[in-house]
Amino acid sequence: FSSSAQEYDFFYFVQQWPRSFCNTNQGCCYPTYGKPPSDFGIHGLWPNYNNSSYPTYCDPNNTFDINEVQGLVFSLRAKWPSLKCPRSDSSRFWQLQWMKHGTCSVLSQSDYFSAALQLKAVTNILQCLQLAGIWPDDRRYTTLTSVVSAIQNCVGHTIYVQCNRDIRGRHQLYQVYICVNQTGTGLIDCPVFPTRTCPSSFRFPKF
Ligand code: 5GP
Ligand code: 5GP
Repeated sequence: FSSSAQEYDFFYFVQQWPRSFCNTNQGCCYPTYGKPPSDFGIHGLWPNYNNSSYPTYCDPNNTFDINEVQGLVFSLRAKWPSLKCPRSDSSRFWQLQWMKHGTCSVLSQSDYFSAALQLKAVTNILQCLQLAGIWPDDRRYTTLTSVVSAIQNCVGHTIYVQCNRDIRGRHQLYQVYICVNQTGTGLIDCPVFPTRTCPSSFRFPKF
């Protein structure tokens, strides 16, 4: 593999709340195979350095091959849907994530996508929030401290919550970052956090 691969320190495993991708001024399109579940979806598994920087596009020759993930397509469609327009079967999203991030990892294509699906299965963020009494709601606001502690208490490690703004400019829960060891096999406390984007209270709209 390329010389830049393998030098990262950890992964961010990033999940997105679909409504918060959709209700911005950019809008969204559901996949050709239907509306995704009302759940967090995978955005990506991103190699990262402890100093906050990160490698990208490490091996342009290691092109995405859907045949490598043949057995995973059914799960990927449900758990890693693309909401970008124009509507698609999501495979471009997986391809982009593989080329930009996956090629910087030590994992093979099938191991990379398997690892992401496995991580999704062991980090049920929506359930973590619901166990703490936090449900998607189009009227009420929720607090950053309650969301962070609900997820951290549930997954047993520090995590990071990212917000964006809806088309009316209101802050909302957008993505959750969970940190994972270099091999993609275990959760860890985050060595470093991205710059805070959530105010002390924000929305968590229904999808
Ligand atoms: P945004 O600017 O929307 O936060 O991020 C754009 C893209 O940059 C992301 O989709 C991802 O590919 C990459 N990116 C942003 N922040 C990070 C980060 O902290 N670590 C890594 N590895 N990639 C990131
Ligand atoms: P990143 O650069 O953040 O790793 O990947 C984000 C890119 O993936 C965006 O440039 C966008 O073109 C594409 N993409 C396709 N579907 C989605 C989606 O559902 N959510 C996000 N955040 N990006 C998507």
